[in-house]
Order: sequence, then C-alpha cells, then structure tokens
Amino acid sequence: MITWLKNLFARQHFARLDALDFPKFAPGTVWLVGAGPGAPGLISLMGYHALGKADVIVYDALVSPELLALANPRAEKIHAGKRGGKPSPKQTDISLRIIELAQQGKRVLRLKGGDPFMFGRGGEEAGALHRAGIKFRIVPGISAGIGGLAYAGIPATHRDANHAVIFLTGHDEHGGVPQSVDWAAIANATPVIVMYMAVKHLGSIAEKLLAAGRQADDRLAIVSNAALPEQSVITATLGQAADLAARDDIPTPAIVVLGPVVDYRQTLDWYQDALRENRIG
Ligand code: SAH
Repeated sequence: MITWLKNLFARQHFARLDALDFPKFAPGTVWLVGAGPGAPGLISLMGYHALGKADVIVYDALVSPELLALANPRAEKIHAGKRGGKPSPKQTDISLRIIELAQQGKRVLRLKGGDPFMFGRGGEEAGALHRAGIKFRIVPGISAGIGGLAYAGIPATHRDANHAVIFLTGHDEHGGVPQSVDWAAIANATPVIVMYMAVKHLGSIAEKLLAAGRQADDRLAIVSNAALPEQSVITATLGQAADLAARDDIPTPAIVVLGPVVDYRQTLDWYQDALRENRIG
C-alpha cells in the first residue's frame, strides 16, 4: 500500500484511541514501552497509543520493523542497538540519550523488546530518568519467556505440570553464567525453568542443573525468533543440551525452556498453521 494511505489509516486508528481518553503523553516525558516478543500485534493498546504520539522513538534491535511502521510518520526513529556479540551503544549512552531528548521537550518513546522490566534493563533506564528528574511511565509488554513460548505451543504453566516457574538469565553483567544464583535451589525449586540469553552458555548451565539433581531426560525446548515468521523450535532433553549448544548454529534470539510443559507442544503447536495464512502475527 502506498505510504500516504498507510499513514492516513494509522492516524485514523490513533484518533479512535484518543476518544477513549488514554493517558496524555506529555512533552518532556519518557514512556518505556514493551513491544512484545516479535509479532507487531502483540504490543499493548497503550504502547500503540504511544507510537502515535511520540516525537522520537528510541528502539532496540529486537523491535520489529512492522511495528515501527505504525508509528507517527513524523516521529524520529533512533536505533539503540544492543544485540548479543555486535557492537552497540553502552547502556549509559542510551540512558543519557533519552534524558537529553526529554530535556529538549520531546515525547520520548523508549521501545524495548518483550517487557521492559524483564531482563530488559528497563529498571536501569527508569532509574536514570528518576535521577535526572524526568517523568516517565512504564508500559509493560508480553515477555518472550511467556508469549514467545506460547507461539511455540508451550504454556509457561499448566495445572498438570507445574505450580511455579523460574525466569533465569543465562548470563550476568560480566557476560558469564550468573554467579550470584543458587543453582541447586533453582534446579530443584520448580519443574519449569525459562531461560533468557541462555544459548551461549547452555552447556555449562545444563551441567550445573544436572549436578544439582535435574534428570538428563528432562524435556527441553529452544524457541528461536519466537512470534516471527522465521520462528524455529528444537525439542531435546537436558542431557542433549551441551551437544546442541556446541553445534553453534542455533538461531538467536532464543528462549530456552526446561520441564514437562515442553510436551504440550505436541498438541498445542498452533503457529505454523497460522503462519501459512498470514505471514505477520
Ligand atoms: N525484555 C525482553 C528480554 C530481553 S533479553 C523480554 O521481556 O522478552 C533478550 C533475550 O530475550 C534474548 O536473548 C532471548 O532469550 C529473549 N528473546 C527476546 N525476543 C525473543 C524472540 N522473539 N524469540 C526468542 N527469544 C527472544
């Protein structure tokens, strides 16, 4: 569709949200918005409202271009990088940038993949805004560890499988396997562990969990590019995790899930069919 027509449609939609009396996006403030795991339709209405109002959008690598295309056509779009292994602006640079833009009186939309507070450094950015005396709003998003798994037909909880779930990051601020977590407690606390940024160190994570008593035949899934047309899923066991990681060909971003919920995929895998009908969503 030609761009001006697209923009016209976008404006009409935003206008309808205005009628619902959504919160005002005031100049000089920052909204930290979760974009969801991949499919553009997974952003919240509040996030969509912000896309229509923002003067400037500072977005992460994991935010889909289709979503950005829905933004106010006049908004300036700034890529904030941050993608494992590739050079990207430092976190402090990003925080300083959004502070600066807000101080210029702009409506700053900080758009982050998934949920801003789930391993997304949203807390750090909001903390910097607080220190700078800039007003902000947090707009939660669908995190990859829940919504991304759902796109692979894996429920994070199921009454017949688990009554708790752990969200774990596969690396800490030094880039290694987190040292500050109690691996024995994590291994034994719940049947289901959802791991972000875990592919690189999957071998050593699996080793720690096995040493702490997890079974080698525990079910494991790796969901790559969840909620995107190129989504792919590997199902295996914890015992096979080290070999999988060593193969070095697992597409990222990827979310790893351990536990019996993986098996529900056999009956709940709905997305591949849906993709055949519609490439996006
Ligand atoms: N705030 C984000 C997570 C940021 S950390 C959220 O709530 O989802 C980045 C990690 O999130 C990636 O390394 C990967 O583990 C996971 N992730 C994000 N988007 C993903 C996607 N579309 N598919 C699979 N994993 C994803």
